[in-house]
Amino acid sequence: MTPSRTRAFATCLAFVSLLACAGGDTPPRAPPDGGAPWLTAEPVAFGADGLTPALSIPPFAGESVALWARSEPGTCFAVASLEDAQGRAWVRQREAGPYCTGCEVRTSIAQEEALFVLPSGEGFASHEGFTVRFGLMACETLTPLRTGGAPRLQLAWLPRERIPERGRLSLRFLVSRHSMLQGHPERQRELLERLNDELAEAGLEVTLDAVAELPDAAEETRFWTTELAGLSALRDGAPPALDMTVDVVFAGCLLYDDPFFGPPVPVEGFTPRVGGGAGPASAVFMPGLRCDAFGGGGPAPWPLNAYAKVLAHELGHFLGIYHSVETDGTADLLSDTGELNIMNAHPSRAAARGWSPAQRRQLLSHPWVRPAPRP
Ligand SMILES: [Zn+2]
Repeated sequence: MTPSRTRAFATCLAFVSLLACAGGDTPPRAPPDGGAPWLTAEPVAFGADGLTPALSIPPFAGESVALWARSEPGTCFAVASLEDAQGRAWVRQREAGPYCTGCEVRTSIAQEEALFVLPSGEGFASHEGFTVRFGLMACETLTPLRTGGAPRLQLAWLPRERIPERGRLSLRFLVSRHSMLQGHPERQRELLERLNDELAEAGLEVTLDAVAELPDAAEETRFWTTELAGLSALRDGAPPALDMTVDVVFAGCLLYDDPFFGPPVPVEGFTPRVGGGAGPASAVFMPGLRCDAFGGGGPAPWPLNAYAKVLAHELGHFLGIYHSVETDGTADLLSDTGELNIMNAHPSRAAARGWSPAQRRQLLSHPWVRPAPRP
């Protein structure tokens, strides 16, 4: 990560307060949503240059494709090249940082395991087939590693025949004692309603399929792009994850702690990776405590409207959407998004509202989004 990017990132967090921002001899594990017809490739190894061989995804009948890649614990990797059937390169190299800014198809760094939902309809014709290579990254510095190693990579892909016009996404609320939602099912229902108001324009409806308490959740959790153990620990006491269901963790104080820049900053919401569904701490995290109000502050009474808007923004990240414009000026790669949009880097602003058709398409492409009937 370059110092300037580090600064841009932390600045983003300081204001918005949120980010966005297999192998060996172990037997292959199935991709995360059991039952779906994922296609798998033979596991490959990262070579001496830190790169896998080119892996071919054959042409398919469909509108989008999700890739699931898994390496070994402690291994970070990124898409290092992406070339379509015409020979056009959409990703040419690994770039330092949490996600690629110079690529024409943007993806985020992966730790151990990740889902990559490749966009469609923005020029990249995934259904004609393509080749992809992955490259090792240093988890500590988010920079490309050019040395080889033993780690292997297992790849599976899931073509989606049609992106649904309307989608439904299942949520589970994991509520700590630090949250204003604890012990208040009526507030949970109201939050869900407001959240659905925010998502309606995107054609997405969320359902609350389970609620569980997190009695032992820490009062304060510090984390960073690849330092997610604290966030993972928040779910330790929770029942096992549900299939194709996004966990929304209502935690205590959440502090983004960039080892390269500045003091830790509180966030209004956090999604560890743009493109959720696999890998460590794959969930959406919402704070329950203000970080400066320990010792009697108790759960912070955030207005539900604003809280729902931030949660909708975080679900946008989980489903694969970047900020419409990052605080360092990097625009997303969607042709129809302006800055004034719920995926604005400052979602609390009144003018940050609504979704564009391309964002809607990206949301509904995620394999966890099921087709929903018209209301
Ligand atoms: Zn964000």
